Amino acid sequence: MKRGERPELLWGLGLSAEEAQQIEAAVGPGFILRNFPEGQLPWRKEMDQEEKPSVIWTPWRVWRDMTEHRREGYRHWEGGQRILIQDEQDESVELEDVLEQGFLTVIRKPLGRAKIQDAFFRAKEVAGLYDDIYKMTQEIFMERELLARKTDQLMFLNQMLTRATESLEAEEILAAAREDLAIVLPVQAVHAVFWRPAEDGVGVDAELHLHSRMESSVQSAWIDFLLESASGAAHAAVHEYQLTLIHPDEPTKGADFRPLEGQVVALSMSTGKVAFGVLCLLCSEPVRLAKDQVQTLRAAVGHLSLALKNALAFQQVRARASRDGLTHIYNRQSLDERLMEELSRGKRYGERLSLLMLDLDHFKQVNDTYGHAVGDEVLKATAGILQDNLRNTDMAARYGGEEFVVVLPHTTEEQAWKLAERIRHGISAKRFRCNGTPFNVTASIGVASVRINALDRGEDLLQRADKALYRAKNEGRNMVVVSGMEGSAGKGMANVNMA
Ligand code: GH3
Ligand code: MG
Ligand code: MG
Repeated sequence: MKRGERPELLWGLGLSAEEAQQIEAAVGPGFILRNFPEGQLPWRKEMDQEEKPSVIWTPWRVWRDMTEHRREGYRHWEGGQRILIQDEQDESVELEDVLEQGFLTVIRKPLGRAKIQDAFFRAKEVAGLYDDIYKMTQEIFMERELLARKTDQLMFLNQMLTRATESLEAEEILAAAREDLAIVLPVQAVHAVFWRPAEDGVGVDAELHLHSRMESSVQSAWIDFLLESASGAAHAAVHEYQLTLIHPDEPTKGADFRPLEGQVVALSMSTGKVAFGVLCLLCSEPVRLAKDQVQTLRAAVGHLSLALKNALAFQQVRARASRDGLTHIYNRQSLDERLMEELSRGKRYGERLSLLMLDLDHFKQVNDTYGHAVGDEVLKATAGILQDNLRNTDMAARYGGEEFVVVLPHTTEEQAWKLAERIRHGISAKRFRCNGTPFNVTASIGVASVRINALDRGEDLLQRADKALYRAKNEGRNMVVVSGMEGSAGKGMANVNMA
């Protein structure tokens, strides 16, 4: 035994004093024999202990007198190699039976030193072999785990790459990312914030994408969290933000969506060296990422960033294409599309739908008097007044030069007329200025509503609103005329007011 090493433990199960002494003498120093008297054989408590004996010596007489339950317990216990000792008068047992009982070998008395040593060293050798096999199995197991993880990561990267480039919708990309990320992390929700320089040049405008299945208090917590992340990463204050909800395909039952510490993995998104967003993964349990997992996530987010940046650029182009360049409200093409949608919805669900057609009065005169640039300002202000008076579900569009159309879903003729009056009044009350000279403009408005059970097409509705508008112009301008009641709702006076 080397210095400082603890002696190796051996057990004896009910050895006689003589047997114990013979064994101790034969194995020499470096081993300690713990001999249990026959009435106090080791059981649960001793067998559960950390230090296991490397060899167990058991006389045949003790083994024979044990209950089968106990024998079974020793047979299945991976405590150490067992050696059976037979007395001279014992009936000799077949080696096969001995092996079946889980013994490594049997030695017969008288116990000479050589006999004991021979059996003992064989037992030690087998124990060593078992140890090696155990270690190898452990290593193989670990390798297999690692390989399985690598396979998962590759599968995840492959899937994420394919899916991210399949769509040009940020929402779809994020919803797919949540599913793909679940291969490598227990992700239950994916939120994101993107930003771009604000239009007025101060700070940034942010776009938040949130998982839709959340309580409102949890949603507010996430909005705060994402806005903070954005202003932190962009090194700028968030000027305005827009919220979009991501709809995952499968509902997540009973999940807690609060941004709990340790459960949120925040990943910065950038293209080139410019950061443009933060991706937040909410996990269902606290996570600690291994180095290889961090690398995989980084690679994935790199690809995802590109796909999302493309989607955002596409979205911007599309938004520009659907809007009027001067007033930034919708253009005629978007209006036509929306009108078709609303009409088919109206037909399906029997909902009310109204339309306003607005034309500025004597606008040519405004241009002629104050110049085209001032005319443009008037058009922008008119669009602003429309927007200020509308609900989220309404839609205002620039139909032509100084003509605007407003689509009003779920709105009766009477409600549309009241709104038209409010807009007309808003426009006539607005004070404009040109080189210090104040002036006013007015507008005429035609109102048309889908009639119950009538099969109106978009053109019909526009035509009726246009007709009503025509009447409003004819009857003196600065007034609202409702289609079908032309003339009866007219009000106000004409002309550009030049104060
Ligand atoms: P009415 O009351 O009958 O509608 O008279 P109006 O002068 O408004 O009607 P008209 O159709 O004769 O003139 C429309 C004017 O709108 C002519 C055009 O120069 C002007 N216009 C159209 N588009 C723009 C624009 O983008 N900017 C500016 N400043 N003017 C525009
Ligand atoms: Mg006009
Ligand atoms: Mg006109």
